[in-house]
Amino acid sequence: MSHRTAPGADTAGDPAPPAEKQDFIRQIVRQDLASGKHSAIRTRFPPEPNGYLHIGHAKAICLDFGIAAEFGGLCNLRFDDTNPAKEDPEFVQAIQDDVRWLGFDWAGLRHASDYFEVFYLGAEKLIRQGDAFVCDLSAEQVREYRGTLTEPGRNSPYRDRSVEENLDLFRRMRAGEFADGARTLRAKIDMASGNMNLRDPALYRIKQVAHQNTGDAWPIYPMYDYAHSLGDAIEGITHSLCTLEFEDHRPLYDWCVDRVDLANSPELLAPLLGKGLPNEAAKPRQIEFSRLNINYTVMSKRKLTQLVAEGLVDGWDDPRMYTLQGLRRRGYTPAALRLLVDRVGISKQNSVIDFSVLEGCLRDDLDARAPRRMAVVEPLKFVLANLPEGHTETLTFPNHPKDESFGTREVPFSRELWIERGDFAEVPPKGWKRLVPGGEVRLRGAGIVRCDEVVKDDDGNVVELRGTLDPESRPGMEGANRKVKGTIHWVDATRAVAAEIRLYDRLFSVANPDDEADGKTYRDHINPDSRAVVQGYVEPAAAAAEPETRFQFERTGYFVADRRDHRSDAPVFNRAVTLRDTWTQK
Ligand code: ATP
Ligand code: MG
Repeated sequence: MSHRTAPGADTAGDPAPPAEKQDFIRQIVRQDLASGKHSAIRTRFPPEPNGYLHIGHAKAICLDFGIAAEFGGLCNLRFDDTNPAKEDPEFVQAIQDDVRWLGFDWAGLRHASDYFEVFYLGAEKLIRQGDAFVCDLSAEQVREYRGTLTEPGRNSPYRDRSVEENLDLFRRMRAGEFADGARTLRAKIDMASGNMNLRDPALYRIKQVAHQNTGDAWPIYPMYDYAHSLGDAIEGITHSLCTLEFEDHRPLYDWCVDRVDLANSPELLAPLLGKGLPNEAAKPRQIEFSRLNINYTVMSKRKLTQLVAEGLVDGWDDPRMYTLQGLRRRGYTPAALRLLVDRVGISKQNSVIDFSVLEGCLRDDLDARAPRRMAVVEPLKFVLANLPEGHTETLTFPNHPKDESFGTREVPFSRELWIERGDFAEVPPKGWKRLVPGGEVRLRGAGIVRCDEVVKDDDGNVVELRGTLDPESRPGMEGANRKVKGTIHWVDATRAVAAEIRLYDRLFSVANPDDEADGKTYRDHINPDSRAVVQGYVEPAAAAAEPETRFQFERTGYFVADRRDHRSDAPVFNRAVTLRDTWTQK
């Protein structure tokens, strides 16, 4: 694999050269262009602004925006804001930030609410055509009348109202004359249909709730299927890509597009004229693909919301969260997430991706992209007693072992160092290659040292090691090539910067936290070891980094300078991922 991206350039190209993708959706798009069915491609990404985007949404974003970009088309970001009670401008902003962070931009920023007037006129048209009626059944009665998968439903007693009565009632619904839930506008399709979605589904409901965009203008709101299909038609969406659970909704989607027939009804689009909004009314095609599922995660906005609300995590961007904000703060790169979507591929087959695939994408990206630094997570003092008191040096280290374009940096070195406590063993286990009393080890880039003395406190804890630096083993010298078993990393104790190091791991300790067998819920499966905060030391060139800079701390893992809390004089680093997959099921 060739890696041509400049260090730190997050949103630049993917690490792998883009091979032409061959999934079934792209095949359809290619055919539609080749046959002349479409001369240009239009897609949209339609999130509901009722929560933060999660890693599953990254798949939809990469597909919607990616296909538009690959085929010279356009992709809109459309907020599906038809349910004002649950929606919030905070989410609207965050979703835009997330899409941009992933490396995409939209042709148009739209809202379903931009089209409320058109949807309303479309509903009146359906009423006049005899395709919709106002129903007075309560929600509970509607359920009773709906029937089951094995039994047909029954017609609503209000189904045969006259066009005049329906128009009058619908206009009065719109005027705010009726209470929430008192009436609905329903499509008149087929109460015996084998597809429950076609059993006279609701198109409008009464909800006297203010809307973040339209204020108090509307006491009625369109249902998702109606608003989504017409929104696609208004924007001239050619390929409306969505997840498999909408497959059974496709006949209703098509019904709405066909019966309202915006393409041949310019009068319905009049409200959009002069407002700079699209009015290209074409016939869109809905195509479904399987959701992204990853084990050890939850990926429902509802559950992610609850984790935050119940204080089980520290907010939406807690680095353990599977929101895009959380992954970003954890140190994930946009390129790693795009790589994940490419590796997983697009199909109609439901599957669960192993968490290690996600982590592998980040490792592969950061291996190429992240400069190397040294940091000591669990410090133990090592004094090189044969160097004069106060001795200091500055060494020059390459920033990347495989890529000279990363340049070099200066690393201070002195008589007193911090090494990892875990790199020393008084009684070494079998096969141990690191430091032991009387043994030798190579200090990365500095020389070979021997441990001569183990200093302990009154309780017998090791508090310091003292040893000798072989003066003939310094870099570039003949003796530097002398064979010793192990190499360890270190930082200069006099000039390293004390840092808060947050060691994150998987948020859940079981593969399927959604499994509610045994009366447990995902709340009961939070991994108690998913976060450990320790005080360590980082070399000055790591401390000086801007927030969100990612490094490989040699031998330790990939880390990111925390987006919110990191300061050069008080560094905070989050572990994004370990160097190797070491996960064991607890
Ligand atoms: P959730 O079910 O997690 O609450 P949602 O589907 O309600 O999410 P929307 O805002 O409606 O969230 O989603 C916007 C788009 O993202 C939809 O087209 C939806 O199909 C897609 N999407 C949501 N979750 C996934 C996923 N796990 N994998 C792929 N696409 C997804
Ligand atoms: Mg949804």
